[in-house]
Amino acid sequence: MTNTGNSSMTSFRIKGRVRHYAWGGARFIPELLGLPADGRPWAEYWLGAHPSDSAEIVIDNTRAELDESISADPGRWLGQATAREFGQLPYLMKLLDVARPLSIQVHPNLEEAKAGFDRENKAGIALDAPERNFKDANHKPELALAISPFYLLYGFRKNEDIVAALRDYESLQDLVQVLQDKGLKEFFSEVMTADRDQLVSWIQPLWDRCSTADDQTTPQYWIRRWREMHDSDSEAVDRGVLAFLFMNLVKLDPGESIFQGANVPHAYLAGQCVEIMANSDNVLRGGLTPKHVDPEGLVRHIAFDAASRYLSAPPAGLREFRLSLFDSRSPQSISYQPKCLSIVLCLEGQCRIGDVEIRQGESVAIPPTRTANLQRLTQSTAVVLADRGTSDVGM
Ligand SMILES: [Zn+2]
Repeated sequence: MTNTGNSSMTSFRIKGRVRHYAWGGARFIPELLGLPADGRPWAEYWLGAHPSDSAEIVIDNTRAELDESISADPGRWLGQATAREFGQLPYLMKLLDVARPLSIQVHPNLEEAKAGFDRENKAGIALDAPERNFKDANHKPELALAISPFYLLYGFRKNEDIVAALRDYESLQDLVQVLQDKGLKEFFSEVMTADRDQLVSWIQPLWDRCSTADDQTTPQYWIRRWREMHDSDSEAVDRGVLAFLFMNLVKLDPGESIFQGANVPHAYLAGQCVEIMANSDNVLRGGLTPKHVDPEGLVRHIAFDAASRYLSAPPAGLREFRLSLFDSRSPQSISYQPKCLSIVLCLEGQCRIGDVEIRQGESVAIPPTRTANLQRLTQSTAVVLADRGTSDVGM
């Protein structure tokens, strides 16, 4: 079927943007996109309408920036309800290839983000200043869907488990005491505000103890790997190394997902995932990073309930996003009615969406007024569908 104008089209091809952060892998993303690996790290592939790296949309054979197209006609692209509620695409989807651990981070809740953004504006801290914490006034709930075995640190272990983990190390006995006497918050503050000499005396003795660890499901493996990623013992000393012992080490199998709500510390360690989040860049960092760390700010925004068990899906009522996987376990075809502009990325195989066929690495955007038919064209097809969140949509 040939389309003569966009009014008859149900979906539009889009192309995302790559971010070459140093922690990215060299091969996974270029291979998935069918592009030549060029020796650079390919960390993130952004599919959204974030103003700093908007996707390109092809309308009537003409390329346009997705964020500009949405701004020019929000009702058409987002639907009237989403245009009124958010005024922009409420989510950002990314493909991630984590070859080196990312910094430990936490995201503020909505009230904290509004207050923090306002406070830093009034204090005259430039938006691009390294010590700037709040880049916007939005919260940043996130969901990661593993597409390979995926490892991360998530929330705090129970106090008794932390004590058991630290007890093994002579150099960490004073920290055990702090945890037992004063509790988790004081323990964490102690780690976050320790000076360089203190960190060296805690962490340097760990290198030898962990030098042969080879089980990825143990903290010792990650301590060893962290050390090996740095040229010298002293360069590897980072307060975040202790987090391998006091945070939960989580492994996701392909197809499993994890939700990171406000105030829960987390750090991606290795693997590939699709990530979807609210359209925000608010990150407070707490180690495993040479970037700015604000210990007091971090402590203020962390939830210290060790019971922060992880959720495998966003909580009911999250309005910004939802993410669905359409793969070999799904029916051969489904009909799909987006709530807002939906972005669809093919991870494997081939599939037909409305009047467009996409294969691995290709993506389309479906406006909300259309019901699109999704059909698997290969047995091993895997496709992710991003849309805004609502409680009344099922698939
Ligand atoms: Zn995060």
